[in-house]
Amino acid sequence: MGIRLATALVLAVALAAPRAQSLPSVQAGDIVITGGQLFDSLSGRIVPNTGIIVRQGIFLEVGASLQGLDLGAADVIGLAESETVLPGLFDLHAHYAIDLFGAGRVDEYTINPLIFLANGVTSTFPGGEVDPEGMMAARRHIERGEQIGPRLHSSGPYFGTARPGWRNADWTPERVRREVDEWAARGVRGFKAKGIAADHLAALIDQAHKYGLPVTGHLDSGARGSVNPRDAISMGIDRIEHFMGGDAISGDRGAYASLEELDVNRPEVAAIMRRYIERSVNYDATVTAYGYWFDPKDERIFTTWMDEQSFLTPYAREAANERLPRRSNDQFERIYEVKFGEVKKFYDAGGRHLITLGTDHPSWGEFLAGFGTHREMHAFVLAGIPPADAIRIATINGARALRLGDALGTIEPGKLADLVVVRGNPLEDIRHTRNVRHVIVRGVHHDPRALFDQARGKMGPASEAEAEWWKGNVRLGR
Ligand SMILES: [Zn+2]
Repeated sequence: MGIRLATALVLAVALAAPRAQSLPSVQAGDIVITGGQLFDSLSGRIVPNTGIIVRQGIFLEVGASLQGLDLGAADVIGLAESETVLPGLFDLHAHYAIDLFGAGRVDEYTINPLIFLANGVTSTFPGGEVDPEGMMAARRHIERGEQIGPRLHSSGPYFGTARPGWRNADWTPERVRREVDEWAARGVRGFKAKGIAADHLAALIDQAHKYGLPVTGHLDSGARGSVNPRDAISMGIDRIEHFMGGDAISGDRGAYASLEELDVNRPEVAAIMRRYIERSVNYDATVTAYGYWFDPKDERIFTTWMDEQSFLTPYAREAANERLPRRSNDQFERIYEVKFGEVKKFYDAGGRHLITLGTDHPSWGEFLAGFGTHREMHAFVLAGIPPADAIRIATINGARALRLGDALGTIEPGKLADLVVVRGNPLEDIRHTRNVRHVIVRGVHHDPRALFDQARGKMGPASEAEAEWWKGNVRLGR
């Protein structure tokens, strides 16, 4: 037997054996979390946390009895009775893009990573990058420890007309496949289609699957050369964003027109939901995404528990406020109402394991995407989804949708130790997830208050001259 295999077996036996006897001694560099409560993803319950040991970024022990153990060498985080450990949160439509001048979106990957992480969001899938090269560089900086941020599961550029400069006539299925090869080699975690034609989408899905990478889509009704999610599911798409499609989204007009008056009790809606479940297609509901677009906003969700604009530079804050409030979008207000019923209907129909959380908020300076995860979880609960499942949607469902369910999404021995500690019991009030006390990602323990302090006053241009540079770097894309 090879030495490495023997070592692995010894470790596996140690992990499987009764804890009290086999507990390995704590080493320098370990993180030990004692006290407080722990969200158990399996049962959906909150249980007392007896002890968690993190070694080199991996959960070595969960539910450990630490009695008699010398913890002197470790970084010990002692929790108060009222604090709760949750798996790190996932935002699967995490826009780093912001639009402060109404000139278009710019990917802001300097300050946003701090704000995502300080909010307990340890995994982000941008869901369409306007500056994929810059995003890839930011990801490298984060992975090398040169910059602080969450896991950046790159989506690469949009496939379809959402990409700046994309013209369908320039693209063939073969060209789509070649580009999938390139971005797969560069380590993207999935692909995003938006405004894509059917033959391009079929090629994208087929080629992405050769690398085991999922494809997600912001699609349409089928009108004007668009693809209805119903047909994308037949092609094998893995994830759908915003709306479920099907025969209730009529192909003779744009999707939003059907969506704003959608009766979720129609049999066509039940039929498309069954299709998602049969094919295990993830659905990124983006409930709150619509809520940002009209005023007055839903006061239940769009409260602020921190001055989000304080993260902008004084110059950017003033510029953003000159354009606020934005013109209210009545159609999105009606769609927002529909979304609550739709996501609950899907949950009840058996889609609870398929719903994922995506914030989709390319901020215009008013609310920042990093805070949006908490708003979206709150929306799920207001829709009637139990808090425990809102947390699962924000954690393990997200991990599985990225094909990372074996490595992330729950607090279990052997998994990567991404976690967040919040104050309060989020099963009693989901808004307790907003009070983030500690975050661990990649084996590093962060103090959210320090991350917020580091980010404050720094997002966006600091002067007129910088603003000109900024506008010159805008890459349009919605
Ligand atoms: Zn988006």
